Amino acid sequence: MSVRTRVAPSPTGDPHVGNAYVALFNYCFAKKHGGSFVMRIEDTDRERSNPYSENQILQSLRWLGVSWDEGPDVGGDHGPYRQSERSAIYAEHAKRLIDDGHAFYCFCTTERLTTLRSEQAARKEQTGYDGLCLGLAASASESRRAAGESCVVRMKVPSEGYCEFHDYFRGKTEIPWAQIDMQVLLKADGMPTYHLANVIDDHLMEISHVIRGEEWINSVPKHLLLYRYLGWEPPVLAHLPLLRNPDKSKLSKRKNPTSIDYYRRIGILPEALLNFLGLMGFSMPDGQERFSLEAMVAVFDLERVSLGSPVFDLTKLRWLNGQWIRSLSTDEFEERVQAWLLNRDYLSQITPLIQERVETLAELAPLADYLLGDPTKLTRDALAHKALSPDEVKKVLQFSLWRLEALTDRWLRDELHETLNALASQMQLSIRDLLAPIFVAISGRSVTLPLFDSLEILGSDLTRARFRDAIDVLGGLGTKAQRRLEKEYQALAELSG
Ligand code: GLU
Repeated sequence: MSVRTRVAPSPTGDPHVGNAYVALFNYCFAKKHGGSFVMRIEDTDRERSNPYSENQILQSLRWLGVSWDEGPDVGGDHGPYRQSERSAIYAEHAKRLIDDGHAFYCFCTTERLTTLRSEQAARKEQTGYDGLCLGLAASASESRRAAGESCVVRMKVPSEGYCEFHDYFRGKTEIPWAQIDMQVLLKADGMPTYHLANVIDDHLMEISHVIRGEEWINSVPKHLLLYRYLGWEPPVLAHLPLLRNPDKSKLSKRKNPTSIDYYRRIGILPEALLNFLGLMGFSMPDGQERFSLEAMVAVFDLERVSLGSPVFDLTKLRWLNGQWIRSLSTDEFEERVQAWLLNRDYLSQITPLIQERVETLAELAPLADYLLGDPTKLTRDALAHKALSPDEVKKVLQFSLWRLEALTDRWLRDELHETLNALASQMQLSIRDLLAPIFVAISGRSVTLPLFDSLEILGSDLTRARFRDAIDVLGGLGTKAQRRLEKEYQALAELSG
């Protein structure tokens, strides 16, 4: 059997370091065994998926150096590699499952399902579908469908006993069937859910080993049942431990920047980030901490992956990056600096802003320092506001951050301007009062090059990280304060429609 692995990101947000981590382990395993590594885009959630995010994910994984043998941008024999282009395949298989009696049409309305759930929750029962449409005669289903009634396709699931399976790292694992819902396979719009599309694609793309994050382990019973219903051999399953924040909670962008692009922008070298991700659960036989992708491939073995909770520790990443920087020759280092910062593309965004404001060229660096590297260390004093208390400043920064987070795929000067203008008027603040702390947050000082140009040049990752740093400098937001602000923010958004 030839080894084929895949990474299957959903293009619904920033290119996450978790995607890179999973991609790296799949890449190493495939390469070590002379196999193929496949990139598949799981974009069946039509509301949340977008081509901008897909592009970002592909670009950042390429930047890291984990390249795929087959994928939407390189083609291959098992395409298309974007799930949104495979609807007919899913519909055909869903039909087969229905014809074989493994799945059924369900006409229950959202209202019914919501009431059902709340009644189950009130009785402290496991929530899930109660099987109302399971008993519908085929002829009844057909005529309701023919009459245009909206319906989904659900899979049948045993109600008793255990689903027993083998996870590569965990060995024998059991999940009671009673915990498994009669999963929707095809939604009312004809699009598949993750579960159906994932199983069909892994099979048709001949994936031999599914190496993915631990958060999917509870989906295994549904997947194995689908393999059985379709008469297919399931792949080897290996669920990697989740990346953690230093406080051991699941890695989240509230506590750590999680976008790969953020790390590129702060000057982490791709080989250092990959090496760091390699250390999450894997270790070299000789205990070396600094190793290249090729070296990792050469000795890669799933047996060397440990299930302890790997901590995404920025201090360690910076240390490792320093090691990599010092391992470069002077020439290589110079090339890196040039490619990272002193490149034409980047400089040409800054120079037009500078040219209008200087008398000598020497003024460039002091004016643009916060665009060329880390800003001056922020202080509470620098964030002091003429009209607002520190708590109000925190609120302004947090609300702006939430507003801007919704803009990541349209991160352009005029849109940023419009968004913050609208927020100021909703918060009944002058635009000056709203922008004052933002100037300081991104640059460490109160006067900068034009603000909205600066935000566009910094990009969403760096901007958001600087906002978060400023909030921390002001004492951060505890869970309670965060919740209170979320409510207030929600009310603000509702008020303004
Ligand atoms: N689309 C899923 C994700 O975003 C893929 C999970 C899997 O690898 O099966 O992580």
